[in-house]
Amino acid sequence: MEKLPEPKQPEKLIDDKGIRIDGRRLDQLRPIKLEVGILDKADGSAYIEQGKNKILVGVYGPREAHPKHIALPDRAVLRCRYRMAPFSVDERKNPAPSRREMELSKVIRESLESVVLTDLYPRTTIDVFIEVLQSDGGSRCAGITAASLALADAGIPMRELVAACAVGKIQGHMALDLSDAEDKYGEADLPVAWVPNANLVTLLQMDGILTTSEFEKGLTMALDACKTIHGMQQEALKKKYLVIKEVAEEREETEVVA
Ligand code: ADP
Repeated sequence: MEKLPEPKQPEKLIDDKGIRIDGRRLDQLRPIKLEVGILDKADGSAYIEQGKNKILVGVYGPREAHPKHIALPDRAVLRCRYRMAPFSVDERKNPAPSRREMELSKVIRESLESVVLTDLYPRTTIDVFIEVLQSDGGSRCAGITAASLALADAGIPMRELVAACAVGKIQGHMALDLSDAEDKYGEADLPVAWVPNANLVTLLQMDGILTTSEFEKGLTMALDACKTIHGMQQEALKKKYLVIKEVAEEREETEVVA
């Protein structure tokens, strides 16, 4: 397995007042910024910053399947590629696709597959490219959050947006949205993706060991955070369409004046 360079170990992950190294409480998300439709050439795109994570997603499709033999007669094939840029981590990451990236591409695809109405587009492919420009823990979850926005931006019919967030255990406490150092020096990490209205968990993984009550508490914290992130996703989509509407209205006004 690929050996990860270790960040400097902080003395404590939580201080005596219950505050984490980046100043957050245990139940607090990192600041999140979401933008939709920022790439001209892709059919759909989105950008997310979650703490120090910076992730760009481009979606192409539905388009004719290439090579043809991968096409399915009754639905579109959804393909996902999660990649970390060589400069996304402290020490240069080897640009060759790693086993971790291949595994994450697969679980991210599975987390999105249940919401995309693939049966509307038989014999086509939908490609989702997730490019991690800067990585700081929880990048698979931030990637899923941005990927579902990029799919919506491409106009691909979906049942709902998928929101994702990790929770973990640090110094014996359950904590929301672990950063890289918390992930590395904490006791457990539990990424979760959720489709709120359908109440479907589409990704659930775990590193480390938890008691069942810690697991239940953690899952509740992660699902609450997914609900918050889902609201932010809806706002980000609305913002894009408000801008388009304003531009169209301005254009109409100038045409009337001219
Ligand atoms: P996630 O980003 O979804 O939490 P992991 O738990 O596998 O995924 O990784 C945690 C963090 O470890 C990543 O966000 C990244 O900051 C760091 N990391 C992963 N792979 C590498 C690598 N090849 N080199 C350096 N750091 C890495």
